[in-house]
Amino acid sequence: MAATAPPTTAWSNWAGNQHADPGAVLRPATVDGVVEAVRSAGAAGERIRPVGSGHSFTPIARPEGRQLELGALRTDIRVERSARLVTVPAGMTLRTLNALLAEHGLALPNLGDIDAQTVAGAISTGTHGTGAGYGCLSTFVEALTLVTGTGEVLRCTAGQHPDVLAAARVGLGALGVLVEVTLRCVDAFVLRAHERPAPLAAVLAELPALVERHDHVEFYWFPYTDRVQVKTNDRVPADDRPLPRWRGWLDDDFLANTVFAGACRLGRAVPALAPAISAISARALTERSYTGRSDAIFCTPRRVRFVEMEYGLPRAALPEALDALRRIVDGLPFKVLFPVEVRFTAADDIWLSHGYGRDSVYLAVHQYVGMPYEPYFRAFERVATELGGRPHWGKLHWRDAASLAPAYPRFADFLALRDRLDPGRVFGNGYLDRVLGGAPSGTTA
Ligand SMILES: Cc1cc2nc3c(=O)[nH]c(=O)nc-3n(C[C@H](O)[C@H](O)[C@H](O)COP(=O)(O)OP(=O)(O)OC[C@H]3O[C@@H](n4cnc5c(N)ncnc54)[C@H](O)[C@@H]3O)c2cc1C
Repeated sequence: MAATAPPTTAWSNWAGNQHADPGAVLRPATVDGVVEAVRSAGAAGERIRPVGSGHSFTPIARPEGRQLELGALRTDIRVERSARLVTVPAGMTLRTLNALLAEHGLALPNLGDIDAQTVAGAISTGTHGTGAGYGCLSTFVEALTLVTGTGEVLRCTAGQHPDVLAAARVGLGALGVLVEVTLRCVDAFVLRAHERPAPLAAVLAELPALVERHDHVEFYWFPYTDRVQVKTNDRVPADDRPLPRWRGWLDDDFLANTVFAGACRLGRAVPALAPAISAISARALTERSYTGRSDAIFCTPRRVRFVEMEYGLPRAALPEALDALRRIVDGLPFKVLFPVEVRFTAADDIWLSHGYGRDSVYLAVHQYVGMPYEPYFRAFERVATELGGRPHWGKLHWRDAASLAPAYPRFADFLALRDRLDPGRVFGNGYLDRVLGGAPSGTTA
């Protein structure tokens, strides 16, 4: 049975830029409860939206009818150690998953910057980390179980409903409710992180070799400067250089969160100081190298609130995109307080993955909460669109179905599958209406 609770708190996301007052909040504990929740919403002619941890900046998870939370859903956890396959409830957070995997000597091959997302939420938007040889997190999905818009429960594997598996690994929450996900893991591993400041031009010149040589490479460009901070992570045999506890706290918590938050508040109050703050931040970051368990190296706490847009581009477009971004930043009538993050991923075959069919570079533009951002993001979106960019589904953008369709070779197949799995659009919301179209394809919206 789906437990119905009156909405005690309205829904909002982590960044605080999306809000909703759902008509009901449902927290089913069983798969049957999920089926019942979906069927009863359909019968009442209402929409129902599965939500994760609320870490998307777009209104992709915004519940506009009933809100479905999966945190209480218990399905069997299965660890097949020798096959390195793990099956978990889809509402489990990545943090809980990482701890579970570590207990079994396993790990996910790659992760993004944080671990607060749910497994379902992370894969549904194509969440990714960095590493030229690694696709987004959805590429680790071997199988999944989905409750469709008509209440059917589909177990999807390479042999059963392979088309649904191919699409629902980045399903935008549009095809059904994920209740269980099977992930292909690797043996637990240690990473050595190396961080160093460098001139942007030098990093761009050595980039192909850098990306080739290291397992995971990313860099942050500081607006108004020619400086970047480069971070590489490589697999090593021993955890022989852990950061002392105080140093980890000082660098990753105090400096990266507390001091940075203070600098952002100052920049917001006195925008003319932003270029100086950016230059000081770029110079203040020093070189350091340390080892640790993979998930602890990949993921760090993020307590300074911001809004973000991120575009995946063909790798060769990076220099042109960065050039354009510098000109955009310099020409804005306001200042930018956050660095630009640049990451790399490998091509995959998931229909609506940003990395579908091509090796990608990702450029993420951020702005501190409460600062203007739209002209900045929109100007970069125009450049990124020209360069064949695909917007991250969970991060701000203004593209619609007509503009996205040519960017994704399997877009029409995804829409046809959505018609089959959710003919009544019980999972719809305003965001999906915009990016996929509201009415079943072939009819008028
Ligand atoms: C501080 C911060 C850091 C981030 N770092 C990265 C990063 O490094 N790399 C990156 O790529 N992204 C990153 N993101 C974006 C984030 O990973 C994605 O937006 C992700 O989708 C959020 O997961 P969530 O659990 O919060 O899901 P939500 O945002 O709550 O939901 C996302 C989507 O998943 C759907 N969904 C949720 N549960 C289910 C379910 N059970 N079945 C079907 N659909 C479901 C929702 O309907 C919605 O469509 C970051 C975001 C923040 C705020």
